[in-house]
Amino acid sequence: MIKVNDINFSGKRAVVRVDFNVPINARFEVTDNTRIAAAIPTIKKIISDGGSVVLMSHLGRPKKEAPGAFPVKFSLKNIVSELSGLLGIEVKFTEDCISDKAFSMSSSLKAGEVLLLENLRYYKEEEVGDKVFAQKLSAHGDVYVNDAFGTAHRAHASTAIITDFFTGAKASGLLMSSEVSSLELVLSNYKKPFTAIVGGAKVSSKISIISHLLDKIDNLIIGGGMAYTFFKAQGGQVGNSLVEDDYLDEARKILKKAVKKGVRVILPTDSICADSFSNEAAQKIFNTKDILSGWMGMDIGPKAIKSCKVCIEESQTILWNGPMGVFEMSSFAEGTKQIAYSIVTATERGAYSLVGGGDSVAAINQLRLKEHVSYVSTGGGAMLEYLEGKELPGVAALK
Ligand code: AMP
Repeated sequence: MIKVNDINFSGKRAVVRVDFNVPINARFEVTDNTRIAAAIPTIKKIISDGGSVVLMSHLGRPKKEAPGAFPVKFSLKNIVSELSGLLGIEVKFTEDCISDKAFSMSSSLKAGEVLLLENLRYYKEEEVGDKVFAQKLSAHGDVYVNDAFGTAHRAHASTAIITDFFTGAKASGLLMSSEVSSLELVLSNYKKPFTAIVGGAKVSSKISIISHLLDKIDNLIIGGGMAYTFFKAQGGQVGNSLVEDDYLDEARKILKKAVKKGVRVILPTDSICADSFSNEAAQKIFNTKDILSGWMGMDIGPKAIKSCKVCIEESQTILWNGPMGVFEMSSFAEGTKQIAYSIVTATERGAYSLVGGGDSVAAINQLRLKEHVSYVSTGGGAMLEYLEGKELPGVAALK
């Protein structure tokens, strides 16, 4: 895979797929610029070489309000001032991604200039991976760069199909490259002991990842709501805790496979339980296999924290996806917090730690620990599919 740093963009016009799918408030302002900031190094590299840049992205899932009219909140015009501020130059904008005006603007870009195209999803052709649409988009430049790791699991016109029209002149952006290399480091070049920490609400959404990881890891820590399905699967009483009854068999299969592969599974032996799903609920600690009816597991307990900490701090490679409890409620955030601190300790001792998936990233950011772990993935769904062992269309198309 060619990387953006392997190319000199002097005199070239790059068409760059970015992920500017950012939250926009009622006043049409960007409320979290993380994704925009993440694309800046790639854009700067191209313009500092003396190239120009045509940026394309989607924003939300636009649906027409009236014939021909998309609600203003889906327009990428809303992000122009934030992007211009972060880049330190005035970014141009065109109100359609494939209109004559768009092409006349892109073809007249001078070295160092940046043009942002309107939301790609204003055309249904984008998501169905339409070839004609992809070919039109390709006419905006000489080199294709994909820096949108967050949408790399989709075979859309701008993320995968477009590369058919750039034979030889396609590269991964800096963000895309670092996402892929950090995932590869964990999945292919890991040092042992390797510990995966998987939490979050549901077993169903993590089964494939756990199954794929069992071939590589030494330890599997299971926390969050999904732990209760595992306890019930082993005959435990979990009270009113979250359980996916349809997945009891799958949970048993995972535990069996772990034994076969010699993977140590650490389930939370105790839980902080509540008498209702509320931050103000009454609390009680139970052994997780003996939770009384009327009580639900909301966080891992002190004994569980202790055993997780010992395991994490002895690890050389750590992958964390999903919180240990309902961390959005301050009363049930301790387990997630302590796991995050342990990962930081292990990282300081030389372990490689990768944190990914919306809620664990939110937890790391909340605790201001982003700079203290090895890598925080921006990937979401794309990262989860990568961890499942799937080849992402957006990555495959760059090869
Ligand atoms: P996921 O998107 O699958 O990673 O799940 C994240 C969500 O799981 C967060 O919103 C947590 O509040 C929720 N969660 C974690 N632990 C529990 C639990 N014990 N009971 C219910 N929900 C939980």
